[in-house]
Amino acid sequence: MFGEEYECKDCGRAFLVREEEKRILKCPGCGSENVVPRQARPLPEWVIHNRNASRSGCN
Ligand SMILES: [Zn+2]
Repeated sequence: MFGEEYECKDCGRAFLVREEEKRILKCPGCGSENVVPRQARPLPEWVIHNRNASRSGCN
């Protein structure tokens, strides 16, 4: 079953929300509706490094 990760801004708890539950976004921990979609994992450092390197090559 598919879901999306959300994070509670109040207690910092991360949880999975299923498609049919997206209308009622609530933190299962504290009941707060102050939840935001969780960001995907940050890019690994070597990817960022490679991007910077290819850009500086234009100079
Ligand atoms: Zn919470």
